[in-house]
Amino acid sequence: MRKVVSLFFILPLAFLLFEVSRAQEIEAKGYDFLKRAVDQVSEQNIASTIRALQAFKTRNLLSEPRGKNSGIAAARDWLLTEFRKIPGLEVVDDGYRLPKQGQRIVKDTELHNVVAIKKGKADRERIIIVNAHYDTIAVSQDGRFHYEDINTEAPGANDDASGIAALLEMARLIAPLETQATIHLVAFSGEEQGLVGSTLYAQKMKQQGKNVEAVLTMDMISNVKAGNGYIDSTRVRVFSDDPSDSPGRELARYVKRVAEQVYPSFEVSLIYRADRFGRGGDHTPFVQEGYAGIRFTEARENYSVQHSTQDLIENLSVPYCADVTRVVLAATLSLACAPEAPVVTSERGGPLLGRGQGYDAELRWKWEGNPEKIAGFKVYVRDTKAPYWERCYFAGKADTFVLRNVSIDDLTFGVSALGQDGLESLVSVYRLPPRRRAEYRFEEIK
Ligand SMILES: [Zn+2]
Repeated sequence: MRKVVSLFFILPLAFLLFEVSRAQEIEAKGYDFLKRAVDQVSEQNIASTIRALQAFKTRNLLSEPRGKNSGIAAARDWLLTEFRKIPGLEVVDDGYRLPKQGQRIVKDTELHNVVAIKKGKADRERIIIVNAHYDTIAVSQDGRFHYEDINTEAPGANDDASGIAALLEMARLIAPLETQATIHLVAFSGEEQGLVGSTLYAQKMKQQGKNVEAVLTMDMISNVKAGNGYIDSTRVRVFSDDPSDSPGRELARYVKRVAEQVYPSFEVSLIYRADRFGRGGDHTPFVQEGYAGIRFTEARENYSVQHSTQDLIENLSVPYCADVTRVVLAATLSLACAPEAPVVTSERGGPLLGRGQGYDAELRWKWEGNPEKIAGFKVYVRDTKAPYWERCYFAGKADTFVLRNVSIDDLTFGVSALGQDGLESLVSVYRLPPRRRAEYRFEEIK
């Protein structure tokens, strides 16, 4: 009897191991494709973008019009021209008129986001937004911010010409490729006035009911030496909002998993916090609209040059900026070429997760794509307090997966779709829905 039992146990295990190795073989194809893209990132292109942008002296939102070769309008025209040079992109001048308001928009102004769109092939629209900001700010001579002072030079090489340089380089490398999702490469403006451009764009996406799957913000990605002398050129920080199973956190885990496979010599350091203390980023307005948003920032900041006339390329590391570009490019391409993620919630919003015959974990999911385009689905499991996924199973082309004698209450589960070409979707997580607040009629007994 014992022999029979052990045979029953071994057979599915052997089958599962075979399936996992089959999935790994398929994934290797995907990683090869991403490696080829990442290998083409050019430090020269990145350096020349940063140099060109810092040469506009200032890109303060209110510095318009300042002249032909300086100020934000000139920088914007230059950016529009650079994006339009790339075949295969639709370039949009996303402009707004803003009346004087609040503490920082001290006069009527125009604000223009520069958007380059790479159309995807998927039948149902899916959008990935990669972004940086091209406006700058610098403290005046008295060491304080005066938003009406547009004469102080604000070269913003690191903040955030570095992000724009990565964006432009990604645009060049992504444009000739075929993607499933549509990619919006956005150079935001008005970041320094309070995330104005990204707020307007995020709200527009929401109002139009756009299916934005991921938002990746690159802001200050080229400094390696901190003011205290510490140097770190081997990792980038990725900030994501709580809780531990938020869409942003899951996107951050995805970036780490993919980028470190494709480019193992560089570390993706996940910070489980929405942003740095006292600072803001263009990912945040998207998170506020319910989208998955994360922020990439260098591992070591130099506070003494930030928002100053000294934020110059001479103080930066272009090879480091290229490394961060490789990370964001690998993740973006992987997301954009992968199939859509499975749906793990019912129409009423509950998770498609049950106890099976009583004490099992029964995972169900919905997926409405072409089954011929996918290799199958991957099931992920981790302890609720574990930072990363701990176990993974290949479920094949199923829509259900059962783990026997596993408590659904004690673990976190997720499922992704693996494409035939080896690229994997985001992991959809089974989340506990919030319990509705109850109200009872009563009379207190005195
Ligand atoms: Zn910035």
